[in-house]
Amino acid sequence: MELFIGSHLSTTGGWNALLKRSHDEGGTAFAFFPRSPYGKRSKALDPTQAAEFGARLKAQGYGPLVVHAPYVYNLAGKDEAKRQFAIEALIEDIELLTPIREAGQETYINIHPGSHVGQGAETGCQLISEGLNQVFERANGIPVLLETMAGKGTECGRSFEELATIMNDIDNKANVGITFDTCHVLDAGYDLVNHYDDVMNQLDEIIGFGKVKAIHMNDSQFGLGSHKDRHANIGEGQLGIPFFTRLVNDPMMAKLPMILETKEQTPNTHRDEIALLRSLVK
Ligand SMILES: [Zn+2]
Repeated sequence: MELFIGSHLSTTGGWNALLKRSHDEGGTAFAFFPRSPYGKRSKALDPTQAAEFGARLKAQGYGPLVVHAPYVYNLAGKDEAKRQFAIEALIEDIELLTPIREAGQETYINIHPGSHVGQGAETGCQLISEGLNQVFERANGIPVLLETMAGKGTECGRSFEELATIMNDIDNKANVGITFDTCHVLDAGYDLVNHYDDVMNQLDEIIGFGKVKAIHMNDSQFGLGSHKDRHANIGEGQLGIPFFTRLVNDPMMAKLPMILETKEQTPNTHRDEIALLRSLVK
């Protein structure tokens, strides 16, 4: 099986530069931020050229595009103005990306669900569903993927149950899915190393494989249940090569776009990690 795999790339230089970076690393999938980490819209990504970009990806046989929303969005926050910012920005992001999907290229936008900042997980999950419903009333051209979180601080989405709760309250369920972050799932307390099948069965029972649309491929510096969210390079963390071998040979998971969010130790790190992961396919 051919993996759809690549890394999270810089948008400096715009659409063509993005694609060039992907070619350089030998990728068949990738992610990028549509905005700066603080939420300012990227000037490099000209909306009028988005459709052409989508058509090129499609023609070149790329896997689904998994754009990453900036970390600053917090749909579960206390501050109404900040929640409103996240809603408006997400609508704009969906509008930017919709022509890519309309050009035939499967596209998703991945978000960190949000942090409840002391209001409690139940309230946090509710606020996230409400915020997303407001988004989808005004823009629904691109499904939003909720990322599995490490459970750092007051993060919502740190268990399959919390993610299912958020998704359950979405009016049109076709608009939401899940990104499975390997580092975060271990961090959250799911033993992917010793009980891979059990974790995947839970994922299927609670969320359903059909809702999982992408994977963030990260090894983890810290171990099971650490809630630290520190990525390690592939094979250099607590997950290790046997886990990644299992994952890339799991028919339910290996068909999904796999996005590396590991540190670039050298300009070749991601190219090497992509080649390494491909070499694990039996
Ligand atoms: Zn993320």
